[in-house]
Amino acid sequence: MQDIFLCSICNVSSGGCKEDCKYCTQSIKHKTNIEIFKEKPIEKVLSEARAAKNTGALGFCLVTSGRSLTSKKTEYISKCASAIKKDGLELHLIACCGSSDKESLKELKKYGIDSYNHNLETSREYFKNICTTHTWEERYLTCQYSIEVGLGLCAGGIMGIGESSEDRKSFYKSLKELNPHTSPINFFIPNDSLPIKQEIMQKQEAIECIKLAKSYLPDARLMMAGGREVVFGKEQKEMFEAGINAIVLGNYLTAEGENPSNDISLIKSYGYNLASSCH
Ligand code: SF4
Repeated sequence: MQDIFLCSICNVSSGGCKEDCKYCTQSIKHKTNIEIFKEKPIEKVLSEARAAKNTGALGFCLVTSGRSLTSKKTEYISKCASAIKKDGLELHLIACCGSSDKESLKELKKYGIDSYNHNLETSREYFKNICTTHTWEERYLTCQYSIEVGLGLCAGGIMGIGESSEDRKSFYKSLKELNPHTSPINFFIPNDSLPIKQEIMQKQEAIECIKLAKSYLPDARLMMAGGREVVFGKEQKEMFEAGINAIVLGNYLTAEGENPSNDISLIKSYGYNLASSCH
């Protein structure tokens, strides 16, 4: 039976993004009611990393809003990574900071970031329907750069945003080319302030999406991220049986998650063990 990997995300710069991704509450184009801040104090980031480690997380992902990894963000994330590594927490550190050039990614690696998360979000064909301020190709290129500089790649996307089943296949075909070690699956969470008007995905359709992901990425960690609670509620066994072997623990970027100890109890009640190493 597979072990389940736990990853915690830390929202270190939130909201105020000038891009127009139609599914995202952090865009200034949508009037969402989220907390906006820049550069969470490093001491606070460190205390969240310690708490994540204590709850059993192996991965810790530092996430900034905005289109790209600027030099200022590179410097800040590098400082966060150095502080966490110096603390001896032995967490797999992931940065998720938008599009990037190779030099900035190399810099992050130098200071202790192990993997880069950048999602393709959806198919190349459908992307223009959900974002007009940057391209899918820009996202794909950053994923390629992450691999080229020797960072691990974590890349996935969001489903239930109006894409077709052909789009889903095309999306996973592209991800297969990139061969990420981990692929997050998000299900769209309806929000009145967002331009996408889709219902919460039905559980059976979500299971089909996970099976599709598994068929294209049999060796990747399939990480259930945003939307887990709204789609599956407290009955998540089928999700693991369909191929999920990693979850985001605790809160998401702008949505509240389950109490980590409840999630861990649920996983153990299904007979799964928690993963004890990253890969
Ligand atoms: S670039 Fe990132 S933070 Fe900005 S709107 Fe798009 S998904 Fe949200």
